[in-house]
Amino acid sequence: MPWKKKVLTPARESTIIRDGKTYPLFYCKLIRYQWVFVCKYCNAYHRHGALPGHVQAHCTNRDSPLIKTGYFIELETDNNAQM
Ligand SMILES: [Zn+2]
Repeated sequence: MPWKKKVLTPARESTIIRDGKTYPLFYCKLIRYQWVFVCKYCNAYHRHGALPGHVQAHCTNRDSPLIKTGYFIELETDNNAQM
């Protein structure tokens, strides 16, 4: 039987404009003091320090467009989950 990687549910995402450039924004969950989201390009969890803002991509998928741009992270809350 062929080995099949489990497909994770990607994080909810949005976009954010900074200095005229559009960046992806991913909503994270707080897990053990880190912000964690599922990257749709890597089908993997990426963990970051618990601070909103722009971060370097943690992508292992070399084809991920995020490697060039980085992305923004924000903590998912009940408020922004409605957006
Ligand atoms: Zn990734």
